[in-house]
Amino acid sequence: MKKIIIAIDGHSSTGKSTTAKRVAKALQYVYIDTGAMYRAVTFLALEQGFISLPHGGEEKQILNIDKDGLLSALKQSTIRFEHNPQLGVSEIYLNGQNIEKEIRGLSVASYVSEVAKIPEIRAYLVNLQREMGQQKGVVMDGRDIGTVVFPNAELKVFMTASEEIRAQRRFEELQQKGEAATYQEVLKNIQERDYQDTHRKESPLQKAPDAVEIDNSHTSLEEVVAQIVHLAEEKIKA
Ligand code: C5P
Repeated sequence: MKKIIIAIDGHSSTGKSTTAKRVAKALQYVYIDTGAMYRAVTFLALEQGFISLPHGGEEKQILNIDKDGLLSALKQSTIRFEHNPQLGVSEIYLNGQNIEKEIRGLSVASYVSEVAKIPEIRAYLVNLQREMGQQKGVVMDGRDIGTVVFPNAELKVFMTASEEIRAQRRFEELQQKGEAATYQEVLKNIQERDYQDTHRKESPLQKAPDAVEIDNSHTSLEEVVAQIVHLAEEKIKA
C-alpha cells in the first residue's frame, strides 16, 4: 500500500505528540517527535556546560550559548529513537542513554527555544529528520515539518488551542509526574515559547498554506485522531 508522510505542526502543548502517536499507531506508521530532538540537544548543552548565565541569575536575557562547542558536541553524539515494548512508545536516546524523563522537565523547556533558534543546530537536526522520514510511512510532529523539513508531505496538519487550556493541560501533566511548577509558571513558559517560536528568524512556526488547521480547545483527542486518520486514508487512496 502507498505510504505517505504526515506532518503535524502547531503551538506548544497542543497535544501534538499524543495525537501524532495515536495516528501513527492507527496507521502502523513510525512516529518521530522532533521536539524531543531539540530538547535532547538542550539537555546536552546543559549537561556539558554550553549554556551559561554569566551573572548567575535566572534571567534568560543574559543567556549565553557556546554555539560552536555545542554543534561540535552534537556532531560527535548520537540521537536515536527506540521502541519501548513495555510502554508501547518510542523513546529518545542521547549517546545510548535514555533521556525521556530528563528532557520533559521545566529546566530543559526553559532553554529549548533559545537552542532551537541556532541555524546550524536546526540544519543538523533537519537533515537527521529527513533521513528518518526517507522511507515514508511516518508521522512527524514539530514546528517546521510541513514548511521546511517535508514541504511536500502528502498530509499537513496545524494544531492549535487557547493558551489557558494548553497551560492547564500541561500543568496537570507535570503535577502527575510530581514536577514542582505552578500554573502561572507553566502559562508563562507557554507564552514565551509561542512568542519565540513564531518570531524567530530561522524557520518560525507558521501554518503551511496547504495545512489543515485543527483547534482542539474543545475537541477530544479521539475526535482529532479520527479526523486525521480519515484525512490520511483519503490521501493514501488518492
Ligand atoms: O514539541 P516540543 O514542545 O517538545 O518542542 C520543544 C521546543 O523545540 C519548541 O518550543 C521549539 O522551540 C523547538 N522545536 C522546533 N522545531 C521543531 C520542534 C521543536 O523549533 N520541529
